[in-house]
Amino acid sequence: MFGKILIANRGEIACRVIRTARKLGVRTVAVYSDADAKALHVEMADEAVHIGPSPVGESYLRGDRIIAAALATGAEAIHPGYGFLSENPNFVDQVTAAGLVFIGPSAASIRAMGLKDAAKRLMEKAGVPVVPGYHGEAHEIVLLASKAREIGYPVLIKARAGGGGKGMRRVDHPDDFSEALSGARREAKAAFGDDRVLVEKYVDKPRHIECQVFGDNFGNAVHLFERDCSAQRRHQKVIEEAPAPGMTPAMRKAMTEAAVKAAKAIHYSGAGTIEFIVDASEGLKADRFWFMEMNTRLQVEHPVTEMVTGVDLVEWQLRIAAGEKLPKTQGEIALAGHAFEARLYAEDAAKGFLPATGTLHHLKFPDAAPEGAAMRIETGVRAGDAISPFYDPMIAKLVVHGKDRASALNALREMLARTEVAGSTVNTAFLAALAADADFAAGDVDTGLIGRHQEALTAIPAPSDETIAAAALAATDAGAPGSAVDPWSTLSGYAHFHTLARRIRLRHGEENILARVSARPDGRFQVALEAPHDAVNTHDLRTMPRAVRWPGHVTVFEGAVGYTFTVPDPLAKADEAGAASGSLRAPMPGLVKLVRAATGDVVIKGQPLLILEAMKMEHTIAAPHDGVIAEIAAEGAQVSDGTVLVRFVEDGQG
Ligand code: ADP
Ligand code: ADP
Ligand code: MG
Repeated sequence: MFGKILIANRGEIACRVIRTARKLGVRTVAVYSDADAKALHVEMADEAVHIGPSPVGESYLRGDRIIAAALATGAEAIHPGYGFLSENPNFVDQVTAAGLVFIGPSAASIRAMGLKDAAKRLMEKAGVPVVPGYHGEAHEIVLLASKAREIGYPVLIKARAGGGGKGMRRVDHPDDFSEALSGARREAKAAFGDDRVLVEKYVDKPRHIECQVFGDNFGNAVHLFERDCSAQRRHQKVIEEAPAPGMTPAMRKAMTEAAVKAAKAIHYSGAGTIEFIVDASEGLKADRFWFMEMNTRLQVEHPVTEMVTGVDLVEWQLRIAAGEKLPKTQGEIALAGHAFEARLYAEDAAKGFLPATGTLHHLKFPDAAPEGAAMRIETGVRAGDAISPFYDPMIAKLVVHGKDRASALNALREMLARTEVAGSTVNTAFLAALAADADFAAGDVDTGLIGRHQEALTAIPAPSDETIAAAALAATDAGAPGSAVDPWSTLSGYAHFHTLARRIRLRHGEENILARVSARPDGRFQVALEAPHDAVNTHDLRTMPRAVRWPGHVTVFEGAVGYTFTVPDPLAKADEAGAASGSLRAPMPGLVKLVRAATGDVVIKGQPLLILEAMKMEHTIAAPHDGVIAEIAAEGAQVSDGTVLVRFVEDGQG
């Protein structure tokens, strides 16, 4: 086994790898950017090396600096985690040339699977079922359009260099083909520097079921069963599980055999995932799954496999890279119970899953597993850490195992209801709604489920009067904003002597709230809501609300929903909203991709004005109100957080 390894990644996956290394007695070196100087993975590692500024291109994607850090610290091997350099064969070559070990497959295996079209041709030859479609070399539009007609609509255009759901367009009708093709090409060119695409049959009622495989350097390959990742938004996974609901013995046998065949065809070593697309229109059938792609790395959702097999996949990665044989034979790998993973993201589900940033002023996970279940919280952040615009906005993965699917799902719901995040918009309520969705609970999942139920899954009910009362009570604790102090003790301390009353102003969305909070000598609190309602509505609070104060705000938790209220600072001067109403600012740093309006244009509320590319996605910036454009950002401009993108002509002006 290695004496010391370097982890070329950040966040939860860096922390995850460090934990297993420590268990095996392997010392660890972390690398970090400016933004991560105080990050958890840096604190956890035995040593840490600064590799550059915050943007990934200047730090986590700088293979040269990472290799230099490994050599300088005497690390023998590099674990790439996922994302970043994990599937970059040139990096693997450089690591090897420097006399270091890459903890992962060979550069040749990565190259074989790197382009989806070539990978499909290779898999077809190896006898693995492949999605019907065109994955040849030609790329003229006329030819691709005729192939699409041959395949039969609907079809899916996919970037051959694609990943993360980018450069993909579903086309339902031949008339839309050429426009979709240029869209997919534009996105692919920008994201991967390669605009070649393939066209395949859009599978009906598609389910995404993938198979975890492992190979060693002695020609052995095994599978560790399947994971279902059909719960997706924008082709990206949200809740994953193992095993796949409704899996039949015949289908599992066919799929795992195909996966092992695929791994063997490229002499695969280390952890990999074979992703299949499944036609579930008539349930799971052994002849209705097709190879989609292989991810030649550890997958984000690997913990669900660990939970149902009891195998530490990172330990296997280290052992195999160190030259050991696969620790278990196929017959020794068994499946037990059911596991889920929910990805907790800083994002606004109600606004099309727009990534969010912010400081996690309050962060609390369940401290014990729900009864009868086992849990893991995989995170790379602590309370007080920031979700910056530079990296993936994932906060944590909530992983749970139960004896069967129903009990594991119940446990997941309970964990989500006990998770508290304040300081950034998060998707906890969305995850909870999905975990409670009737179709999801029945195991009737397909990749379109979230889209079909989007409105119900992302709707946040208005806060109840009880919640507003709890927020008002929490807001009385004005002494120490930022800390999650107990509002109960501060007020009731004085109340031993006399009734204490305070008037509190709050805002929730557009609504102004006025409340009168009194603490009485008997230890009870009374909150009278004087606005927004006409009639004064009095609430007697006996139990402690789950509420936290953070700068300028109060967040009250009701189940998995966090209601955030603004507490206006009476000392603050003018309201900033006034100054901002004449302009539209960038919600995050990014690139102005496409501008659809010009100076002098009369625009109406909701009209798309420009597309901002930020955090790996395109965001449409629409007019917040009717108006006339005075100034608009230029196409291709790189903007930072808060830069004015659009200025409107204000009343009384030009
Ligand atoms: P998965 O199927 O495991 O979600 P993806 O190919 O979508 O795989 O990407 C894996 C993960 O790697 C993503 O969830 C994301 O967190 C991370 N990732 C991918 N690309 C980048 C990148 N350029 N920068 C940072 N993280 C990335
Ligand atoms: P990426 O590299 O971006 O992960 P994939 O080829 O793995 O690309 O596809 C991502 C997702 O797109 C899948 O998980 C699935 O939801 C959907 N998808 C891919 N191919 C098809 C298809 N032929 N029919 C229907 N949906 C598909
Ligand atoms: Mg994929």
